[in-house]
Amino acid sequence: MDTERVALGIPEVRQAPTGSGRPRLGGAETGLLDQFGRVATDMRLSLTDKCNLRCTYCMPEAGLEWLKKDKLLTAAEIVRLVGLGVNRLGVRELRLTGGEPLVRADLVEIIAALRANHPELPISLTTNGVGLTKKAQALADAGLTRLNVSMDTLHHDAFLQLTRRPFLDQVKAGIEAASAAGMTPIKINAVLLRGINDAHAAELLQWSLDRGYELRFIEQMPLDADHGWTRDGMITAAEIRELLTADFDLSADPRARDGAPAERFEVRHRGATELLGTVGIIASVTEPFCADCRRTRITAEGKVMSCLFSRTEVDLLELLRAGDSASDDDAVAARWQDAMWAKPKAHGMGHPGLGDADFVQPDRSMSAIGG
Ligand code: SAM
Ligand code: SF4
Repeated sequence: MDTERVALGIPEVRQAPTGSGRPRLGGAETGLLDQFGRVATDMRLSLTDKCNLRCTYCMPEAGLEWLKKDKLLTAAEIVRLVGLGVNRLGVRELRLTGGEPLVRADLVEIIAALRANHPELPISLTTNGVGLTKKAQALADAGLTRLNVSMDTLHHDAFLQLTRRPFLDQVKAGIEAASAAGMTPIKINAVLLRGINDAHAAELLQWSLDRGYELRFIEQMPLDADHGWTRDGMITAAEIRELLTADFDLSADPRARDGAPAERFEVRHRGATELLGTVGIIASVTEPFCADCRRTRITAEGKVMSCLFSRTEVDLLELLRAGDSASDDDAVAARWQDAMWAKPKAHGMGHPGLGDADFVQPDRSMSAIGG
């Protein structure tokens, strides 16, 4: 083990809640329902905790103590879990994430196997774009539907400061390669940090609009392994809108939000009528959307997290490895349902009556959950 790497102190095994109180309707599947009536249909699956960048809002400089290979979901286990989600539990879309999913050597094979089993399933991938140039066409050929590429700035110095790696040109080339491979519309994810790239917001939007990419700003969340997030330090959605309206007119996108985390705006140059495209803002901290949440998350080692900010996690790997009979599948599905039934009502930040004092940062960093 690399002793310089940071250990997050995540317990080896966290068990399923017993006696979860979830109603069993005569054995019929009730999907991934929670006790507040929400039904999770959007599966976020982390393929690895490893990453080749060290974004300051996510990873510590020295990296984390990576999971050992035998603790990671195998390709076959991933295919089985997605199959259970889609065929029995009402999953309607899948996002593959990490860590950095492109570092997983069997990524293309995993996507091809998922596509073969689920011809209609929307499968998307969130990536930092490093190494995408070489893989974009193979990912498209394997059946990937959509790509989100994270790129916070177009400036080399700020990119280096944010990610601690000098790979901006590679990321831009990767985005172009994905576009050339026909994976459109491409979404670009950006996190703004005060004094580093907040002044680049409008420029990044213009760059994205010029190329037909949909930019989405994500409020910085307290999910960094360094625990450096502060409410005063973060750039809020209101500030993001203000930063953009210096150059652009934003108006609410008339399309229904439909449970999407991003609030979308139509974008025009100031005072002009021509529609240039849209921009999204994901305000998880200051304008949380927990009441409409449809997500279920599985970490790279097969633990269900009902929420990004969950402090409980439920192990499915142990049950997956117990056997692959129909009754083993029943047990995995039931435990996944129990985990989702226990999903908290809200994450505790920014909700009326729930101050930050009630919020405790999870042990896991964003990279170890799967954003
Ligand atoms: N490595 C890939 C990437 O960066 O796109 C996929 C995993 S990353 C955890 C997924 C998304 O989470 C990225 O868009 C990243 O910018 C975002 N993210 C990471 N840490 C965050 C934080 N503390 N607050 C808000 N977004 C964060
Ligand atoms: Fe890696 Fe993505 Fe986290 Fe950046 S945000 S360190 S690219 S996992």
